[in-house]
Amino acid sequence: MKKDLYDFLNTDLQFVRGVGPVMASKFCEVLDGRRILDFLLHIPAYVRPREITNSISDADSGDIITISVLIKSHKPGGKFGRGRQSPAQIICSDKFGKNLTVQFFGSSFLDYWILKLPVGSTRIISGKLEINNRGFAIMNHPEFIELPENIDKIPSIQAIYPSGSGIGQKSFANVRDQIFAALDNKIFDECNELTEFFSSLRSAHFPKSSEELLPDSDAIMKLAYNELLAGQSAIAISRKNRKSEKSYKVLRTKKHDFLSQFYSALPFKLTDAQTRTIDEIFSDMDKQTSMMRMVQGDVGSGKTIVALAAATKMAQSDSQTALLAPTDTLAIQHFEKIKPMFDKLGLVCDILTGRDKGKARGEKLISLRSGRTKLIIGTHALFSDDVIYKDLGLIIIDEQHRFGVAQRESLRAKGTNPDVLSLSATPIPRSLSMTIYGDMDISVINEKPAGRLPIITTKLPGLRLNALIGRLKAQVGDGAKVFWVCPLVQESEESDLIAAESRYEYLKKYFNNVGLVHGQMDKSSRDKVMTEFANNNSKMQVLVSTTVIEVGIDIPSATIMIIENAERFGLSALHQLRGRVGRSDKQSYCILIYGNRITENGIKRLDVLCNTQDGFIIAEQDLIMRGTGELLGIKQSGWLRYNFVDYSAHRDLFKMAALAAKENKPNEWTNDLMFIFNQELQAGA
Ligand code: ADP
Ligand code: MG
Repeated sequence: MKKDLYDFLNTDLQFVRGVGPVMASKFCEVLDGRRILDFLLHIPAYVRPREITNSISDADSGDIITISVLIKSHKPGGKFGRGRQSPAQIICSDKFGKNLTVQFFGSSFLDYWILKLPVGSTRIISGKLEINNRGFAIMNHPEFIELPENIDKIPSIQAIYPSGSGIGQKSFANVRDQIFAALDNKIFDECNELTEFFSSLRSAHFPKSSEELLPDSDAIMKLAYNELLAGQSAIAISRKNRKSEKSYKVLRTKKHDFLSQFYSALPFKLTDAQTRTIDEIFSDMDKQTSMMRMVQGDVGSGKTIVALAAATKMAQSDSQTALLAPTDTLAIQHFEKIKPMFDKLGLVCDILTGRDKGKARGEKLISLRSGRTKLIIGTHALFSDDVIYKDLGLIIIDEQHRFGVAQRESLRAKGTNPDVLSLSATPIPRSLSMTIYGDMDISVINEKPAGRLPIITTKLPGLRLNALIGRLKAQVGDGAKVFWVCPLVQESEESDLIAAESRYEYLKKYFNNVGLVHGQMDKSSRDKVMTEFANNNSKMQVLVSTTVIEVGIDIPSATIMIIENAERFGLSALHQLRGRVGRSDKQSYCILIYGNRITENGIKRLDVLCNTQDGFIIAEQDLIMRGTGELLGIKQSGWLRYNFVDYSAHRDLFKMAALAAKENKPNEWTNDLMFIFNQELQAGA
């Protein structure tokens, strides 16, 4: 790739006209990155037609209409009783004299639009039409209001980007237009794979219909194939590197016997599946080539202890282990559980996250470098440049799917071909795991510790919500803690938030102490609420949340999980959410609430969940039964996050890409692809 293009793709979004640092940070939350490239990989979800409608009578309540109207009269908004406000109203009419009332709520709008929309003038407006029960046509806050000569500013087909964090569709469109204008100048004359790739991207960003965004459209197929090729190329390289030998301490010599202490200190008997997995891991660790093993096991199957056995074995030859967790909360939770066990063995265990600064951090680094710290638990902070290990022998990656091959390899580069053990709570059907995790050996923990009761799972129509609340009150009175996951709304994360907030307000009428967490709270206030909910002595017994409650969070006293609009989630996502309860010897319950628009297939899918607790069966069914378009993005599935790949629609592409990556030598194009999809491997790694 030409340096010019490379630099352009790497440019921070804050330098795009009309963006700036504040909005760039907001984009970063949505895009998971803040470069122009990150924007390009985030494509619209569907299109919203906005062609001109002639008459209001042609449209139904709920339709998005674009229409030319004459402003007839105004009714200023104002305050009335108890701080409530009436909206500013602008009465307009269409060509046929049919009236439409445009309303603006909120104090800052009360007079603004009345000045902007003088009586007698004509405007083109576009927004959602509502017909109230008296038959009046109303439009609240039109999304577009333009002078007739500026009609071009209203796209007749508007691409709708998955959003959130308060970024409007107009901002997305602005950034897109500028990026593509600049990009077209950079990739003009050549005709190669790169140009073709960007032209597919262009089609996806300027769709002419929602069909063009479906997984089987030409553009999406091409993009998905290339995305898979990037991943498979990275896997192929990493597999090749793996052949090289382990560190200078090849076949590390055992100097201590911590393992027998470890086993005798265990407060429970290992399950057969745990014992088998530990055997598989140990045999890998004794080999000359480094281990690359993934442990798949449902939530609660006891993966942590297995990983700890491996860390303990490493410590027997004075070598170090790094445990990488996706978030601070999970890192802290691991640390709090693991440290007491390591203390018993007399081994030093430490934690390193982005929160560590200054002198305290410096001391942690010195201890690592000297080899004193035998197990370090942390987040991305573990691969900062200044983190140096004496002899990093083992890397454990928790919730593997949250990290790419590239990140794994950059941590591996901190040691000399260290062993890698990945943990995943998301069972993946065998047919897929071969291609997704092609460079790994897999151990499966398919058995839960004895004494766990299955989670009683039922489905319930939304209409019965109040009956449910009645029953919950009794349970909560007996000390149960309840997770309440809120409606998932397709439009944007913003609407998800509104749904969670209104549910929170509603539940407060029935329960004394309700908490709320959502993605737009800052981390520390979110953690505070979670911690309070987790605390056995706190009065908070109901926690309302959007889907942010993290994979792996462990609150044993929570025994009830309620999921609204369950039909909108993938089965694996529901299974993961359900796994937040059932973590003690108490009976737990999961209630799947569905909306009245659920399909027959949707009911069947929920039944799968009611009838089994086996994550592998659920994952397999998830693949078979996912109705395209019926469900939200793959982001929810908990598997590796792809931008374009759809697991069920693109199964053949997986195989094609795997084959191509195996047969082709790495070349300029595959290197470019690995850069584009953030799968770049560090030189020499
Ligand atoms: P996960 O696989 O979801 O990471 P954890 O490792 O957090 O599961 O284990 C869940 C809980 O089960 C922990 O409290 C752990 O101490 C306990 N546990 C693990 N293995 C066993 C076992 N063999 N018998 C009883 N309890 C166990
Ligand atoms: Mg875990």
